[in-house]
Amino acid sequence: MRKRYLMTPGPTPVPPEVLLAQARPMIHHRTPEFSDILVGAVEDLKSLFQTKNDMLIYSASGTGVMESAVVNLFSAGDKVVVCSNGKFGDRFVQLADAFGLEAVKLTYEWDEVVNPIDIERALAADAGIKGVFVVQSETSTGVLNDVKAIGDIVRGHQAVLVVDSITGIGAVDIKTDEWGLDIVMTGSQKGLMLPPGLACVSVSEKAWRAAETATLPKYYFSWEKARKAMAKSTTAFTPPVSLIIGLGEALKMMREEGLENGIKRHESLAAAARAAVEALGLTLFAPPEGRGNAVTPVRVPEGIDGKALVKKMKTEYGITIAGGQDHLVGKIFRIGHLGYFDRFDIITTIAGLEMTLQELGFSFTPGSGVNAAEQVFMKEVTGN
Ligand SMILES: *Cc1c(COP(=O)(O)O)cnc(C)c1O
Repeated sequence: MRKRYLMTPGPTPVPPEVLLAQARPMIHHRTPEFSDILVGAVEDLKSLFQTKNDMLIYSASGTGVMESAVVNLFSAGDKVVVCSNGKFGDRFVQLADAFGLEAVKLTYEWDEVVNPIDIERALAADAGIKGVFVVQSETSTGVLNDVKAIGDIVRGHQAVLVVDSITGIGAVDIKTDEWGLDIVMTGSQKGLMLPPGLACVSVSEKAWRAAETATLPKYYFSWEKARKAMAKSTTAFTPPVSLIIGLGEALKMMREEGLENGIKRHESLAAAARAAVEALGLTLFAPPEGRGNAVTPVRVPEGIDGKALVKKMKTEYGITIAGGQDHLVGKIFRIGHLGYFDRFDIITTIAGLEMTLQELGFSFTPGSGVNAAEQVFMKEVTGN
């Protein structure tokens, strides 16, 4: 037997309280009982997103609501700016291409931050641009893009700003209304601490106006259908009832912790993970000016087989971390700490990483990573 630790940035561990809530006998979704749960969850989601905008919930993975933004906001041939510095930015590019949008692609190396000035220039160069797509927290690389600065730029323009905050929500600050973010989305298997299968998206007034003239075909993902149903405290189609009951429970836990405290906890976990890997002599992948709190990506050191490292962590130590994606396969590994994570998840993972690295013949001082993580946590505990 091997005790297992899920240290990936999605799916993330689900708290026992949430699992138990989801195990309750099925209830019908056209009932006051379900409506109460749904309405409560939507209110809590709005607080989490720091928004008064409409909040729509779909039975889909995160990509479903990414696609919903494309089909509800635009018409074929519309010009949009799509920023990409990682796998999920690339997904927006693919979605824009798939639906026949004319995309101005701002592409960056995967260890770079999206430069808001480039967006400003692209918008200034073409007044016909109707949308800007950006990922706040690039899960593939740990890079955090400055959506506040981007919001300031897009605010004065006709373009609608679409933000993928799928691993941002809950882990880093995101002030949807204050920062002028028209569309913000997340998925259940990330910071919401739920199993996969549910995704939500907030829609601003400016976005609703854009949606009025959008002609791309849609049915299941029609925001208008979802909004009309939500106005009657229900959903347009059969919702994932158990997931929404679980969502209610997860949001209650988040409400009890407090939004700011939750973000602080994620900051602390990320700080400890970074301090630990650097103490081991490893190099962080994301640049200092753009590091999120959801995941810590680390460069695989010279002479070490990155795939073997991830595999060994899992088979020998029971710790599932994530490898690199696309061209970063074998080149980086990623330690997730988004959602239901606490100090000893980091300590355990770093200890497992140290043991794995020793086995693979990497030279460092055993215990130095764990010690560095402990020091970060001790500083918070003792206050100095
Ligand atoms: C997980 C994730 C998505 C959505 O992926 P799904 O597999 O469709 O849930 C989109 N963007 C980011 C940044 C993600 O981390």
